[in-house]
Amino acid sequence: MPMATESAARSTNVDPAELEKFQALAARWWDPGSEFRPLHEINPLRLHWIDGLAPMAGKRVLDVGCGGGILAEAMAGLGADVTGIDLAEKSLKVAELHCLESGADVRYERIAAEELAAREPAAFDIVTCMEMLEHVPDPASSIDACARLVRPGGHVFFSTINRNPKSYLFAIIGAEYVLKLLPRGTHAFDKFIRPSELVSHARHSGLEPVRMTGMTYNPVSRQYRLVEDDLSVNYLVAFRKS
Ligand code: SAH
Repeated sequence: MPMATESAARSTNVDPAELEKFQALAARWWDPGSEFRPLHEINPLRLHWIDGLAPMAGKRVLDVGCGGGILAEAMAGLGADVTGIDLAEKSLKVAELHCLESGADVRYERIAAEELAAREPAAFDIVTCMEMLEHVPDPASSIDACARLVRPGGHVFFSTINRNPKSYLFAIIGAEYVLKLLPRGTHAFDKFIRPSELVSHARHSGLEPVRMTGMTYNPVSRQYRLVEDDLSVNYLVAFRKS
């Protein structure tokens, strides 16, 4: 039956081993000294970059691969009407519990982006999908789902890690082995995505790039910064749906 095949296809863009990595740490999502410290530290930077390009107060925002809700809650704090989706049940439980504590108003659901896109196409003004594409088997499918979820004229934001010798050295050797910012095995080099590949997939799905920025880490000052002309390791891209 076409429906059954279609629905099976929609839920296959997930790597259970990847989800398990995040589930195992789920209790520590909101501990700013935990494995999730880098996400806490980059959060204000990415939040304001996104809000500067697509002011989110009063907008319907979807955060795909929201984890414990670090970005989702911050966006709600700026007055957005936020939904967060992820496939890791434990992370969503933590996200929901944290809302009770913080008073943030975010809706969470365990659903694949592809499936939500079929159920609620063009339902969101802004879609964010941060640090997730490098953990899925088929990033083009996630990108396409985000493109279908946003309304025409709306914005989609992705962040991920570039693929080149420097990003191997910095994002894997540096971050996981030398500075120990992330647990070993967090990232796999062959899952990294070049900006040109991300843009090409996105264009294919009707998204036009609006702005890109790199994000660098200085191990001496322990500061992250957005650097527009250095996309060599971590980077963010803003798209607009035509
Ligand atoms: N976007 C959040 C969390 C990044 S960590 C932030 O930047 O703060 C990566 C997240 O992607 C984890 O929460 C993990 O559970 C989620 N994830 C991995 N594969 C996924 C998939 N196929 N669909 C939805 N979420 C996925």
